[in-house]
Amino acid sequence: MLALTGLELYTPRQVFPNGTLLIEGDKIVAAGPEACAPIPSQARRLSLPGRKAFPGFIDLHTHGLLGKDAFSRDLADVIRLLPRYGVTSFLATTITLPMEDVYARLREMADILQKPPAGARCLGIHIEGPHLSPKRTGMANAAWCHPLTRAEFDKLQEAAASHIKMITLAPEEGDSLKLIPYLLEQGVIPSIGHSDASYEQVAEAVRLGLDHATHTFNAMPPFHHREPGVIGAVLAFPQIIAQLIADGHHVHAGAMRALLNAKGVEGVCLVSDSAPFAGLPAGQYEWEGYTVILDGQTCRTPEGNLAGAYAFLDTGFRTLIHSLGLTPSAASICTSEVPSRALDSPFLPGIPQGCFAKGPGVKSKGRLLPSYDADVVVMDEEFRVEMTIVGGEIVYQ
Ligand SMILES: [Zn+2]
Repeated sequence: MLALTGLELYTPRQVFPNGTLLIEGDKIVAAGPEACAPIPSQARRLSLPGRKAFPGFIDLHTHGLLGKDAFSRDLADVIRLLPRYGVTSFLATTITLPMEDVYARLREMADILQKPPAGARCLGIHIEGPHLSPKRTGMANAAWCHPLTRAEFDKLQEAAASHIKMITLAPEEGDSLKLIPYLLEQGVIPSIGHSDASYEQVAEAVRLGLDHATHTFNAMPPFHHREPGVIGAVLAFPQIIAQLIADGHHVHAGAMRALLNAKGVEGVCLVSDSAPFAGLPAGQYEWEGYTVILDGQTCRTPEGNLAGAYAFLDTGFRTLIHSLGLTPSAASICTSEVPSRALDSPFLPGIPQGCFAKGPGVKSKGRLLPSYDADVVVMDEEFRVEMTIVGGEIVYQ
């Protein structure tokens, strides 16, 4: 048993200034004020005065870090390295490549996921490309983009040994809109992104069960009040959980505020979209044949377009607090609770179209509460990561 004591403890709706967190095995068994959590004598005690404990960050959109690409065998290193930035769970995210390469890479990832090393938990794979609008590819090669079909999805899921958990798609392309119920039945979250869809097309996708959006504002047409498009729909439909990159470069602070005010923190899921070279020194790098230039704050194509992010979820967490004025509790909802809930919404077969209920799924992550997974990030006064615990094990210090 592990007892963290003397720290500021952030449970979902309460902050305990002198809190105790008791962990047994991989679960939290007590979280609250010292008096309410008596520490058994055999427990290993860690006194952490001046530190803050939050539920571990869950990143539903990361391509890797520090020279390691999640879309390859390097996924093992990504698992080991992510806890440095407070990430305890994540979806390993792919990019647009020719399909034969995509299948081969998915097989490599599935191999790693059969016996993952200690580190952050990889909860699955997020396919981001090539099912994108050729008009909104971001850095992807438009010649490789095409609409998703059922046969192709089945082949992808087979190559990935059923680890695919999320798929970014442009529902207006081909018949991909009609695939939404099928994806949900398979326990996969369709996410609108890199899309040029009209508001009406998104409304139809929502009717079919769409409830997630990939990096809101980025790779979407700008909002217009007579042509609200994807952004207007994300703001208008409360059932859509909106991913947001809060590195301070992808989205203006005013747009982040507008999103948070429209949807509330419960509707916004912070993601990093970190590129495999995130965190490395400034310079020019090759990412799967795409050239990217790092300047210590951003990753860009030679044309100057953003190509994934340079920062991680801890930076986004600090941005929400320091630049947007959110309380740490509110920011924590966007980094832990919402992404957990997003993963937790499998379609329940047998429910009529347009009528959705949240299924059982993984309700055990994203909060510091008894019976939840012992996934914890301990931060200093400035919200810098000092220690990360995954499943009750200290994996970074
Ligand atoms: Zn991405």
